[in-house]
Amino acid sequence: MPVLEITDLTKHYGDLLAVDHVSFAIEEGETYGLLGPNGAGKTTTISMVVGVLGRDDGLVLIDGLRHDVTTVKTKALIGYVPQELALYPDLTARENLRFFGRLYGLTGRPAKMRIAEALEIVDLHERADEAVAKYSGGMTRRLNIAIGLLNRPRLLVLDEPTAGVDPHSRNSILESVQRLAAEGVATLYTTHYMEEAERLCDRVGIVDAGRMLAEGTRRELVSLVDEHDRVVLRAEEGAARAVPVLKALPGVLEAGGEGGDLELIVEEARSLLPAILGALGEAGVAVRSVEVREPDLESVFLHVTGKALRD
Ligand code: ATP
Repeated sequence: MPVLEITDLTKHYGDLLAVDHVSFAIEEGETYGLLGPNGAGKTTTISMVVGVLGRDDGLVLIDGLRHDVTTVKTKALIGYVPQELALYPDLTARENLRFFGRLYGLTGRPAKMRIAEALEIVDLHERADEAVAKYSGGMTRRLNIAIGLLNRPRLLVLDEPTAGVDPHSRNSILESVQRLAAEGVATLYTTHYMEEAERLCDRVGIVDAGRMLAEGTRRELVSLVDEHDRVVLRAEEGAARAVPVLKALPGVLEAGGEGGDLELIVEEARSLLPAILGALGEAGVAVRSVEVREPDLESVFLHVTGKALRD
């Protein structure tokens, strides 16, 4: 049974259909990315998933139990990390956690343990007794995540957790999510960073204008794009003489060259590279640089929406 299963989730704001019959499921230990530009409906979708926003239509099941704005039992299974969370700047990170822990009914020794555990996961344990006012933006985001972990959630919901944070905190956040996934936590992760979705998410749902346009693993999504890998090589002048040899290699679909530049269209660039370089070596062509261009989620996004993700 999936940890989260949503069916036909729908939300209007007046005349605007912000979320249009969105469905997906997330299994234990799986990280699911909702990838889409600003305004795609990601925040609205996850607000309905966690139950801070009512839905117009659709069903949310958590561990098979129906989840609504008013259900407490299923809410206890969720850790929600919104884009902004009100922290107390004059209190330390540990004191903030103690405060939020009390909201979950956590006190005494169990609270102490959970707080230490959460601080460790987000790598703030060494700075836990500093006032939050002194924290960088990235550390504040990590503290937000720690708060979302206090109830040891089955489902962790993160709304663009790395937006605008420094590279160190970003890495630390991504590593925390990977560690939690290894422990079985199901994660719903929204982002408009393609690289992040590629690195972190087992499956990705591409959303735009409130609709789920495509869904799957990276490999499944990339196969939607009718594009092959390209290998671009810079070599010495006259390298084009090797084109017939390259064309004859199994897996090479096309090869062309001009002067010292060679370009190949291949089935799987990474596995073919040794054969390509070997063939060039045998033909006496010295290669200066190699570039592999594989279709990525950006290409998929362009394919399914007709526009670039960064627009
Ligand atoms: P972002 O990354 O900017 O938060 P998003 O993908 O999360 O984008 P949403 O915030 O869910 O998108 O917004 C979806 C659409 O609904 C947008 O067109 C937005 O302007 C609109 N919208 C969001 N909240 C409200 C609201 N409270 N009232 C009216 N319209 C809203």
